[in-house]
This record gives sequence, C-alpha cells and structure tokens, in this order.
Amino acid sequence: MQVSVPRLHPLDDYLRTDRLPHTLCPGCGIGIALNAFLRAVNELSSEGKLDRRNILFIGGIGCTARMSMYTMFDSAHVTHGRAIPFATGARLANPNIIPVVFSGDGDLAGIGGNHLIHAARRNMDLLVVVINNMTYGLTGGQLSPTTPTGHYTTTTPYGNPERPFNLVPLIAAAGGNYVARASITQPEVMKSYFKKALIKEGFRFIEVVSTCPENYGRHLGYKSPADFYLKIKEVVKMRSGIKPWDAKYDWSSEITIGEFIDRNEPGFSKSLYEQISKVRNSEN
Ligand code: SF4
Repeated sequence: MQVSVPRLHPLDDYLRTDRLPHTLCPGCGIGIALNAFLRAVNELSSEGKLDRRNILFIGGIGCTARMSMYTMFDSAHVTHGRAIPFATGARLANPNIIPVVFSGDGDLAGIGGNHLIHAARRNMDLLVVVINNMTYGLTGGQLSPTTPTGHYTTTTPYGNPERPFNLVPLIAAAGGNYVARASITQPEVMKSYFKKALIKEGFRFIEVVSTCPENYGRHLGYKSPADFYLKIKEVVKMRSGIKPWDAKYDWSSEITIGEFIDRNEPGFSKSLYEQISKVRNSEN
C-alpha cells in the first residue's frame, strides 16, 4: 500500500519519508553528516553538475549504514563490511553510476578494512564516507579500530590498550585521489568536501568525526549529547596545506581536520575499460 506523507522539510525529496521515524538516538551525529551530504547533492543538482539519479547509495551494517534505508536514491543495504566490494562491482558493471559508500568506522575500517585499503590502492571510482564515531554503535558500543587508546567501551572496561587507526595517512598512502577529514561540528566545511568529492573520479575518501552519545559517550562520562559534541569541537583543529602524515588523530591533543590529498589520477574503471578495449581490438 502506498503511504502518502506530507513534505515538511526542504530535503524531504531526498528521503524515503514513508520510512520515518528513523532509528537514530537523540543527539547522534549521523544526522548532521547526512544533512550535509544531502545538501551537497541538492546544490550540485541545482548547479547542473550532478544527476542525482546516477547516485547509488550503499551502506554495510551499523547505525550509519542504515541511512541507505532512508535516502531516496537507488540504494543497497548490504552485509557487514562488504559495502565497498558491492560498490566496486556495481561501478564496473555500469560506468554511469556514482557509488557512494556511507557507513561507519566499524563497518569500513574494521570488518571491511581490507576492502577499504585495496579500493584506495586501485583508485577505484567510489566516494567512501566513514562516519567515525569511534565505536560499533549499533551492536552495543564495542571497541572499533578508531577507538582512542585508553577509552572505555563495553569490550574494554579497563580502557582500550590498543592504538587506533589514523585513517587519513592510511588512505593517502594507499593511493586515494581525494582524502579529507571533516567534523560534525563544522557541517558547512563538510558539505564543501562532499561537493568536491562527488564530482571527482577515482577513490575519494572523507572521514567525518562524529559522536555516539548513547553507546559510547556515556562510557566516557559525557552526561548529554551536547557534552560529547563540545568535546569534539574542542579537540578537532582545522589545518590547511599540511601533509596527510602530519594529520593527528589524538584524543588528548588534536584530531586534525582538512583536505590532505586532492589529485586527479585516472580512476580504476577507466584504466580497466581501456585495457578491455585494447585486448578486444587486438583480437579482431
Ligand atoms: S547507537 Fe550511537 S551511533 Fe547509533 S544511533 Fe545511537 S547514538 Fe547514533
């Protein structure tokens, strides 16, 4: 049965409003990131630079990944950690689509970490957005590969003894065309990164420093989502013109945000199609 839902918000055309209300907890940072992404798409569409019908929006498993259920694009909600392989296959099958992988740190840097590194190495034509709330939020707040050292989670009740991934230098070294880190505390800057990355070729990577007040912040002692947000605001520092390996990921001093790589190497699909055409021509 078709449900008729009134349009109440300017971005409602980008949402499956019949699926609302959503499952995000009050004060969660994911909504800020999704709002910035949808505004970027909307502005690029109005400027005639992007056909939103070409976007394929993909999430694996997790609170962020569930956004693929609410966005009004061709979308896929796939298995844990496998959003990048799914997006890769779709892009190679149809060069017209713009795959956007929108998922969390646990899904993309943990369970799907191998796919993340190798998609960057191939310079695969994908936009990958990692909403980094530093935990596996949906499954109860377990340690993720980006949880800072010493932090309390449900699986590290005495503090995290590990060192976290610093995703910016990791993806820059692996070979992505575009590498940036944003923060939910600066949504306009985040939107500008989305706008740039959406219309580039090759592997584009945007990490968004976010919050999980429900299953992570309370283990750290934040009494409200606002307290967690203010801590993020204090720790992120915007730097321009610095090398990716100088971008810090240190909860006790600085998490550097900014653009670190912006190059225009040919994307993997172009190289692959050229090779296929060369082989076919040589066989004729
Ligand atoms: S569990 Fe955490 S990440 Fe998930 S919706 Fe709630 S606050 Fe957001």
